[in-house]
Amino acid sequence: MYGDAELVDETFLSALGVFRFPTPLEFLEAGGPANVYALENPDGTWTLFDTGIGTPDALSALRSLAADARVELDRVSDIIISHGHLDHFGNAQLLSERSGARVWVHPADLGKVVGDERHADMLVKHRAYLLSLGLDAELLTALADRAARSAQPRYLERHRLSLLADGQVFHFKHLDAVVRHLPGHTPGLVCLHAPAQRLFFADDHVLAKVSPNPLLDLSQGEGETKFLALVRYLESAKWVRDLELDAVLPGHGESFRGHRSLLDGLLAFYVTRQDKLHARLKVTPSTIHQLLEVLFVRRDASRLMLMLSEVLANVEVLEVAGRVRRERRDDGVFVFHAV
Ligand SMILES: [Zn+2]
Ligand SMILES: [Zn+2]
Repeated sequence: MYGDAELVDETFLSALGVFRFPTPLEFLEAGGPANVYALENPDGTWTLFDTGIGTPDALSALRSLAADARVELDRVSDIIISHGHLDHFGNAQLLSERSGARVWVHPADLGKVVGDERHADMLVKHRAYLLSLGLDAELLTALADRAARSAQPRYLERHRLSLLADGQVFHFKHLDAVVRHLPGHTPGLVCLHAPAQRLFFADDHVLAKVSPNPLLDLSQGEGETKFLALVRYLESAKWVRDLELDAVLPGHGESFRGHRSLLDGLLAFYVTRQDKLHARLKVTPSTIHQLLEVLFVRRDASRLMLMLSEVLANVEVLEVAGRVRRERRDDGVFVFHAV
C-alpha cells in the first residue's frame, strides 16, 4: 500500500443496501479481483456499479455472490459503468439483455464500451505516432498481430446506453450518490460519491495496492488535443484527496480508509519518477522508448504498452511544467531534452 491506508470492516454496507461482489480476474496488475457493487433502489430493484470481466468464471462468481446476498440480477434496473475497461464493463451487455437494465457511461468512454476504440485497431491506426515514441517497427507489428488475435469481449449495443454527466445524482434506497467525472486512468472515468455517508466508490481512480496506470489514450487525438493521462489524473487525484471520507470502495480489492495519506504517497511516487526522468534527460536526451530503462528493470514485451504509457505520461507532466521539451528528428521520432 501507499501511505497508511487501512482496511475497513465492510459489515455496515449491507444496512445501506450496498454489496460488494469480488469477481476473479486473470491479470494481476489490476490489483486484485474486479469488484461489482450492487446498490438497492427505493423500489427494491438494483443498480450495479460495474460488472466484472466477461469470462465464465467471473460471471458465475457474480451470480453466486449475488444470490447469497439476495440481489436478483434479473431485477437490475440500471448499470453504471465506471470506465471503459473490460474488467468493469465486461458483463454489462449480457446483464442488460437479461434484465432490460439501462446502461450508463460517460461520453468520453463511450467509444471503448461499444468497440470503436479496440486496442488492436489503435495499434494500427496510430502506428506513426507509436513509432514517433521510438518503438521498433517490427516489434510494433508483432504487438498489433497479437492484439488482433486476442479474444473480443461483448461490446454494448448503443440503444442500451445513456450518458452520465458530472454532478448527476442517483437516489438509492439508503443513500444519494453524486457522479463525479475524474479523467486520468481513462478520459471518461467516473466515481460515485455519497457525501452524507462519506463513502466514495473509486473504481480504478484510487486503489490501495497499485498505482492507477495512466494508459496511453489517443481517442482524443495525437497532437494538441491529445489526452494527457497523468496530467489529468493528478488534477483528479488532488480533488479526491480533499474530500472527507470514511471509506473508499475501490474497483479492485477491499474497502479502505486513509485515502489522503495514500494519495499523498502516490503523488510523491510520481514526483520521484518525474525527477528520475528529468535527471536522465539532463545528461542524455532520449526517446520515450529509451527512457523505459530509467523506470523499469524488467522490460518484458507483454508489458511494453503499460511501461511506455507510464514513461510518456510522466514526461508529459514535465513538459507541461516547462521542465522538458521535445524535438522531432528527421526520421519523425521525438527526442526529449531537459530544460
Ligand atoms: Zn481500468
Ligand atoms: Zn480495473
